[in-house]
Amino acid sequence: GAAGDPEHLVLRSHYPDTPLPEAGVSQFLLSSCGRHTNRPALIDGITGRVLTYGRLIDGIQRWGAVVQERWSPGSPPPTVGIFMRNCPDYPIIFFGTTLVGGVVTPLNPSYTAEEVAVQLADSGASLLVVEAALEAVALKSIGLLSARGMPPPALFLLGDSKSGNSDLRAMLEDSTAPFAKHVDVDPSSVALLAYSSGTTGQPKGVCVTHSAATACCEMLCSPHFHWPIDPDVAARLLGLIPFYHIYGIVSIMLKGLKISSTVVTLPRFQPSSFIRALQEHKLTVMNLAPPLLKFLNESNDVKREFLQSCHTVGCGGAPLSTSSKEKFTNKFGDGTDLYEGFGMTECIITHGTPRIDRKLGRCGKLLPRVQAKIVDMDTGAALPPNGNGELCLKTPCMMKGYHNRPDATRETIDEDGWLHTGDVAVHDEDGFFSIVDRIKELIKVKGFQVSPSEIENVLLKHPAIADAGVTGIPHEDYGEVPRAYIISSKGSSVTENEINNYMKEHLAPYKQLLGGIKFVTDLPKNPSGKLLRKVLAKTAEQE
Ligand code: AMP
Repeated sequence: GAAGDPEHLVLRSHYPDTPLPEAGVSQFLLSSCGRHTNRPALIDGITGRVLTYGRLIDGIQRWGAVVQERWSPGSPPPTVGIFMRNCPDYPIIFFGTTLVGGVVTPLNPSYTAEEVAVQLADSGASLLVVEAALEAVALKSIGLLSARGMPPPALFLLGDSKSGNSDLRAMLEDSTAPFAKHVDVDPSSVALLAYSSGTTGQPKGVCVTHSAATACCEMLCSPHFHWPIDPDVAARLLGLIPFYHIYGIVSIMLKGLKISSTVVTLPRFQPSSFIRALQEHKLTVMNLAPPLLKFLNESNDVKREFLQSCHTVGCGGAPLSTSSKEKFTNKFGDGTDLYEGFGMTECIITHGTPRIDRKLGRCGKLLPRVQAKIVDMDTGAALPPNGNGELCLKTPCMMKGYHNRPDATRETIDEDGWLHTGDVAVHDEDGFFSIVDRIKELIKVKGFQVSPSEIENVLLKHPAIADAGVTGIPHEDYGEVPRAYIISSKGSSVTENEINNYMKEHLAPYKQLLGGIKFVTDLPKNPSGKLLRKVLAKTAEQE
């Protein structure tokens, strides 16, 4: 147990503590970004629409008032689902909700109606904000909830609706619309329910508190990790990594706006609009995931001079190969520094590359206030440098727990408060970490989370499938992709094509079986019938 860990094997950050703000996340944000009311806060990278800081703040206040209006006295804070791609209005809905003590649950915009319905039901969302392009999916998911006897959330649409719903944007820009009434938000209360499957099982709501988010923002702003912040000059940030994911929420929406940057949003990755945004807006900072970095490295359409104004590129969310880093440095290295980071929804961001102490092939050092240990996977004993083991973390950014899942919470955060990441890591004498393997079930496709058991559950509902096991296999461009091993029902002659069509109806594109389908006659299971994922992974590896 950790109580017995030798003191020298508990690793502490080498850098001075950063502040722990005692405020709600929106109050924390608004306390500094109000100084530049005419500066563009966000620019839509497709349409060019500009949202200034003044309008952002007004919009946050107006949306906060709507949430307050819907909150009946004495009841718990409302949960607001956000079903939108990245756009300038996203932070209005996000921070307007948290301003008044509401909880945000962001949904992946590529979700099917079924996936949306599952998250809405699990999170108990009573309001749902949807961009007009996703209206049909949202309506379908509301239909699914009603059919199951669950109260559907009140729907708000941003943009021009097909069904005649009014455009929320008009209200957010209406100077006669009321502002929110001031409330004191408890920093230890939940601000965000972000879905993650953690180390095992189905996606679960990760309860992120106001104080976890603000503490992380301060940690990221540590001068040992951050480029020099100049309040008089706006950094120009790429807003492409998803705002529904903790990485985009904290590093772009919260930190980017807190330091009064201009964020150029893109609704999805598309080579031409990405390249256009890069050139047109002379971006100075880009947060990316490994597949995007690979694109910059390998596309002949991306010329070295396109990154001339860009001094910082950050990359995280999935393993980044040493060759990718080398290629980047060779192509853009002179003026653009590459920083890697490590994080996990359950503890936000814990590792980063220091400004002046960088090592190739590592995911960084501990951010201020973070503690870590690497434990032997069999004995649980803390290991000295250079030993491979499970990475365990303690940080002020730790989740409160999984929403309504005390069992899963106990399996992830032990009695001594250590979060078990399910990642195998190693650290060296200088305090640099590298991630060497993953022991949890999670598959990461282009940096997006895919839970094998979620796919298996969908497959098992197909009448022609008797049993199924899913595992990740390496993929050149996406990092990993899921592969299914399927036992068909007696007498059925179901084809790969039929299963793929069925999968498309039920699950988002990045969860599709790009690693293929193998029909088998048995699956590796233990005596109690539990799928042996390690054995399945080994089988896939050998193939
Ligand atoms: P998420 O909760 O979606 O952020 O996923 C967290 C997981 O992504 C981690 O537990 C790791 O398995 C993986 N991950 C994130 N950053 C890195 C990194 N820099 N290197 C390797 N794996 C990473």
